[in-house]
Amino acid sequence: MQQKSTSSLSAVQLAMLVLGALTVVFIWALFVFGDLRQVQSPFGAAVLNDLELILNILMTLVVSGTTLWLVRALKQQQSVLHALQQSEQKNQQLIERLEGEHARSSRAAAIDHLSGLYNRRQFLDIASDALNEQRRNRRLSALLFIDLDRFKSINDSLGHEVGDQLLQAVAGRIQRMLGPEDVAARFGGDEFVVLLADDRTETDMEQWVAGLSKHLSATYQLNGTELNSSPSIGIAICPRDGQTVENLLRCADAAMYSAKKAGRGQYRFFDQSLNLKDVEEFHLEQSFAEALRNREFVLHYQPQVCLDSMEVTGYEALVRWQHPEFGLLFPDRFIPMAENSGFVIPLGMEVLRLACTQIAQWQVDEVPVQAVAVNVSPIQLAQPEFCRQVLEMIGDHGLKPGQLELEITETAMLDTNAVDSLHCLKAAGVKLSLDDFGTGYSGFAHLEAVPVDKLKIDRSLIEKICNSHDDSPIVSSTIILAKRMDLKVVAEGVETREQLVHLKVAGCDIAQGYHLSRPMPPADVPGFLRAFSGAEAVV
Ligand SMILES: [Mg+2]
Repeated sequence: MQQKSTSSLSAVQLAMLVLGALTVVFIWALFVFGDLRQVQSPFGAAVLNDLELILNILMTLVVSGTTLWLVRALKQQQSVLHALQQSEQKNQQLIERLEGEHARSSRAAAIDHLSGLYNRRQFLDIASDALNEQRRNRRLSALLFIDLDRFKSINDSLGHEVGDQLLQAVAGRIQRMLGPEDVAARFGGDEFVVLLADDRTETDMEQWVAGLSKHLSATYQLNGTELNSSPSIGIAICPRDGQTVENLLRCADAAMYSAKKAGRGQYRFFDQSLNLKDVEEFHLEQSFAEALRNREFVLHYQPQVCLDSMEVTGYEALVRWQHPEFGLLFPDRFIPMAENSGFVIPLGMEVLRLACTQIAQWQVDEVPVQAVAVNVSPIQLAQPEFCRQVLEMIGDHGLKPGQLELEITETAMLDTNAVDSLHCLKAAGVKLSLDDFGTGYSGFAHLEAVPVDKLKIDRSLIEKICNSHDDSPIVSSTIILAKRMDLKVVAEGVETREQLVHLKVAGCDIAQGYHLSRPMPPADVPGFLRAFSGAEAVV
């Protein structure tokens, strides 16, 4: 384009020069022929001839000057145009480079770096469009949730590098089996998802999945090491099991969970009998260890108030799980599971560590916190080394044993190891309190066998207290008996002023509950203390 305009401008210049030259030739031709005529004329005058000569010379100069000026102006215009074209070309190159970089960065944002498959976000977009298209064409689609069996143990025993290579190999095998319209993604960890979006019947899909399962179970050669793995696959069919990607994912996930329970290398179709809550629990259980590594557990602190002085005497530390996917989880969601899986032992130590760290920090910050109570599971208490570990923890944080209180449940009293732990802790000066009293089977008779300092009356008994003193004779008699055994009494779950008044009159020592304060993050404790001591008496 640039070449063309340069040559056309040169032709114009040339034409201009030729035109100028022709004009000059014409002027002189007229002069010469006019001269000849004057030679033949008897009235030829030399003066006229000279004048014409001067005029011709002048005209020649004017024509040549104008031609040269025009050619020069054109040349200047040509160079300006040339410069413009060059800058336009540079701009074009810049735009192309920017477009290339933008394409590269959007691709990087859409792709899982390790496997080269789509990442979760991109998959959700693409799969949603693909599902709509499938439905328009009245075709069946299948969403597959694939999880590798034993991946965690492979990762732990052979290292992350081998684990990553295995994931890459699995991604490669999945990708090689895909049809032109199928989409695959890695959702993180060892979870892969596939959308089968070609024209297939349910039987075709099952055959495809069976083939994939066989393919992924074949031995892997990684860095000269032979490795065996297998997938658990859950399948959800659209539109039967769900219409949206999110619903299908939930169903495929539940089906995968059921496949995993059935053993290794299995696949399962979703059916309505699968309990989605079980699936969530399964995932929580799977992520326990990682949660501990990532320090996802936090403690919230609920004040305990002395009913005589109306001063805060201590706090109960309550564990929460700040789950990256499910948000803040309360203990009822994960403690039963942690107890079943044995995870409650490392979790219990983490809770103790968090509590000790916090007490030490409050000490540094001069926040007046006398004691913190931590709930201890009977399983944890039955560990032979438990007492030593707790005392070490207290020592490591520079605390006195009396600053830590352990809340135990009645079942702990049935295990001899646990009772030994309790005696050991009590001898060292750690305070013990019996939690949830009044809900189990043990009564005061068993209490003499364990060295507890406090009795916590369960919230189910407290909530029965209304206005009249006769509302809960059990609470009143429990308080009387506990006093006779020289135990302090704590009422938990105090939610109304009436309950607080009743408990105070009945001789209860300490109260804890929403009426006084909800559990709060440690950062809120200093502010709460200032506000509470400044407030009027709550009773
Ligand atoms: Mg408790």
